[in-house]
Amino acid sequence: MSSKPSILIVEDSKSVTLLLNSYLNKLGYSDVHTCDNGYSAIKKFKKLVKENNPPIVLLDYMLPDMDCRSILSQMLDIQPNARVILETATEQHDEGVTDLIRLGIYQYIEKPIRFEALKNVFETLEKEDLFFKKDSDRKSPVLDAEDEVKTKLIDRINFILNSTKQVSLNLIEQMIGFSDDAIKSYLKELEASGKIINLGEKKEVACNKCNSVKTTQLFSCPHCNSSHFRIGKLIEHYGCGNVSEDQTYQEDTCPHCKKKITAVGVDYRIMHNHYICSNCSDFFSELSSQYLCLKCENKFKLDEVNWQTSCNYKLAIKNTG
Ligand SMILES: [Zn+2]
Ligand SMILES: [Zn+2]
Ligand SMILES: [Zn+2]
Repeated sequence: MSSKPSILIVEDSKSVTLLLNSYLNKLGYSDVHTCDNGYSAIKKFKKLVKENNPPIVLLDYMLPDMDCRSILSQMLDIQPNARVILETATEQHDEGVTDLIRLGIYQYIEKPIRFEALKNVFETLEKEDLFFKKDSDRKSPVLDAEDEVKTKLIDRINFILNSTKQVSLNLIEQMIGFSDDAIKSYLKELEASGKIINLGEKKEVACNKCNSVKTTQLFSCPHCNSSHFRIGKLIEHYGCGNVSEDQTYQEDTCPHCKKKITAVGVDYRIMHNHYICSNCSDFFSELSSQYLCLKCENKFKLDEVNWQTSCNYKLAIKNTG
């Protein structure tokens, strides 16, 4: 049996799933599970964690039944140190992806997925596993207390640092569930030995009800408030003023006035990176957003945010991805 962890691919495209599967087999991962929607992915994830076989998750940014923020939150709820790798298309590199990284996305990988990129991500992941395994063999001053609670605490801090790209002291405390001097002294120790880098003070969004910094941004259509939207290309036909998605211009014909469009910049223009609401078909360059507290489920707007400041850290390992 392979000593490599299991993998869970959450992807609705069969061809991408096949491709990932073959790449992962090449990298020596043989325990690969696949799901084509968010609902079954959560179920499968729960089952694997219960069986003491927590998977590394490859999560598609766009799934038909569930927002990936919701899937990530649910997985982190089941296993706070879950390693979820997000598959995104380049045009999805918006605030949403940054937000997901802050929330605990381990790494993201750009679509179309190349073997080299996937290999880099998994090599970094394996390096980090080794790095912390070696570290726990060695006794650290904080561990000298031989306090089992502290040992567990250190394991959790390692996992949190391991599973986030950058993490603030506030967020670490939030994920652990309490604030303690042992957390601060262990972080200082890691910083002194060059294993983590202190990135300085970070201002973070906190819930205006319970002060939790475990929050996420929710995006919706400014017109109908639906959260079912996609990112696409729009074409504006100068002649009649029609603006609609590029695929509505079949055979280069404007769907409104039925005239041919001929030269970009002359009689039409392409508008990239627009959000198109799947519910009301309206389109926007920006979505409306509010925050959701993952602890108490309070929803609040940007001007109601309770800002909190603490030190921000990241692992000293260089990311090749
Ligand atoms: Zn709250
Ligand atoms: Zn037209
Ligand atoms: Zn809408």
